[in-house]
Amino acid sequence: MPVYKAPVDDVLFLLNDVFHIERYANLPGFADASPDLVEAVLGEAAKFCEDVLVPLNRVGDTQGCRRNPDGGVTTPAGFKDAFHQLVEGGWIGISVPGEFGGQGLPSVLTQTVNEFLASANMAFAMYPGLTQGAISAIYAHGTAELKALYLPKMVSGEWTGTMNLTEPQCGTDLGLIRTKAVKQADGSFRITGTKIFISAGEHDLAANIVHLVLARIEGAPEGTRGLSLFVVPKFLPNPDGSLGARNGVGCGSIEEKMGIHGNSTCVMNYDGATGWLIAEEQHGLHAMFTMMNEARLGVGVQGLALSEVAYQNAVAYAKDRLQGRALSGAKQKDKPADPIIVHPDVRRTLMSIRAFNEAARALVMWTALKSDVAHRASDAKERQAADDHMGLLTPVLKGVLTDVGFANTVAAQQVFGGHGYIREWGMEQFVRDARIPMIYEGANGIQALDLVGRKLAKDGGRALTAFFAEAQGFAKEHAADAALEPYLEPLGKALGHLQQATMWFAQNALAKPDNAGAGATDYMHLFGLVALGYMWARIAQGAQAKLASGADGAAERLKAKLVTGRFFVERMLPETATHLARIQAGATSTMELPAEGF
Ligand SMILES: Cc1cc2nc3c(=O)[nH]c(=O)nc-3n(C[C@H](O)[C@H](O)[C@H](O)COP(=O)(O)OP(=O)(O)OC[C@H]3O[C@@H](n4cnc5c(N)ncnc54)[C@H](O)[C@@H]3O)c2cc1C
Repeated sequence: MPVYKAPVDDVLFLLNDVFHIERYANLPGFADASPDLVEAVLGEAAKFCEDVLVPLNRVGDTQGCRRNPDGGVTTPAGFKDAFHQLVEGGWIGISVPGEFGGQGLPSVLTQTVNEFLASANMAFAMYPGLTQGAISAIYAHGTAELKALYLPKMVSGEWTGTMNLTEPQCGTDLGLIRTKAVKQADGSFRITGTKIFISAGEHDLAANIVHLVLARIEGAPEGTRGLSLFVVPKFLPNPDGSLGARNGVGCGSIEEKMGIHGNSTCVMNYDGATGWLIAEEQHGLHAMFTMMNEARLGVGVQGLALSEVAYQNAVAYAKDRLQGRALSGAKQKDKPADPIIVHPDVRRTLMSIRAFNEAARALVMWTALKSDVAHRASDAKERQAADDHMGLLTPVLKGVLTDVGFANTVAAQQVFGGHGYIREWGMEQFVRDARIPMIYEGANGIQALDLVGRKLAKDGGRALTAFFAEAQGFAKEHAADAALEPYLEPLGKALGHLQQATMWFAQNALAKPDNAGAGATDYMHLFGLVALGYMWARIAQGAQAKLASGADGAAERLKAKLVTGRFFVERMLPETATHLARIQAGATSTMELPAEGF
């Protein structure tokens, strides 16, 4: 069975020594997050993931979900009990305000726990993950009545949530949505239409399922501006929260798919189902974006999570598998061969994944802290700046962490040779599971277009300017620190490439938008490398400071951080030059062939 150990020490190092969580103590919820409590929360989450969820990962993959003749869906053996333990532990509502039954703790903890959950069992983790997204949307946009009725049940895990956007004729282009809503005299709506690919659309884990559905109210304009968002429960709740009649929504079928077999992917048929509006009429997409942004960050975390678990298994295998001798001479002369971890090419693979994972985790946590500021700070300017950061970094996190996360699962599989290709070792499941995060929540090409087409120029480029200012400010502040130079010098170069690419778009994409479209994915990855490079500079600074002040027995781990960071800036960050060259090549050769020429 694959191994997994939640990276609690790494998270604590990032929280305490890199991001200095104590600096956020003035925000609501942070004072409660004492170092002891944080350690206890992470320790408990780790235990649950390692002991309960890891063993169920293969079970979920092998058994999958089953749709029964009555339209109900049975999840794999053990999922129900594990879900019960998850809700008992209060894991869904870690960051939800206390008034709705949550713990009100910083969302950086939620994202961290979600990484552990997804590493241990991604298919399982999607049930609470989607529920968290639905909670956020109702919390941000629902009426007081809706919040009071739905949130406590969802936070406690009695009810779960889904998001319903996709239809057979409509994926990326949500303007094509056909699902219809007809207003009723009592203020409710009748929802009719078919949604496909709905994750966790039907299952046996919870008493009720709360679907958030994008639909067009009769008479509303075509396109995305005519869309509204509705809450459509499987069972209609009575005012006291008890379950009433079955609503007109059901699972028509479930998809056979490449991975995440333990998560039900459903065709959902709405046949005059009763729903209630969330947010104003025709503001549906805006409200759904609350859920989608959270979900996109969550999907980025899935990319990291699978990269991490694949890495851990590749390391274990590389230390154990004996093949060939080290180029520099035999390392284990008593054995018939050396373990493959001695080979530079195997190490190149392991170091690349490790260097990505550690910085990606920092990037997730940095962004999650910004999300905490955006939602909790009393100062409007601070909230605005944090919100800008979230808007800019969300497509980068989603696109880069899932593209590279998938590539890393393949690289980790390669370390196993043929043993990675057969099922026994579990590596091929990681590869299959890691493929979907690149596609859902907006395919990665769309994330890149969102970044280049919308986020760069938004508010006169305010978010991008702030990102440059922060990274350059850090470099300036530590310019005299010779020990940091190996990290800051390459970071400066990479930042220069990002600036050149941004400038190139400004000069060449307005008149010829194909230049932006053709370069967008390279720009997203260039941005990702710079952001990860900036994380490595901060990690290196945190590690050096901790080493200088006495490392409390963590010296070897901290020194390893510094080596891993050097590997990143020496061997991975220079790829920014390639991305820049591709962007500056423009769209001509990409677009020249006519469609019939393919
Ligand atoms: C397992 C699974 C779970 C899912 N869960 C959910 C869920 O819970 N809820 C939900 O609503 N949906 C869900 N989805 C649907 C998913 O979000 C969509 O599949 C995804 O958004 C892409 O839509 P599509 O499949 O229709 O592809 P299309 O929109 O047809 O896109 C096909 C390709 O064309 C590209 N493309 C499309 N338009 C453009 C453009 N303008 N510019 C450049 N490139 C473009 C895309 O990047 C993509 O590569 C799920 C899908 C799967 C497979």
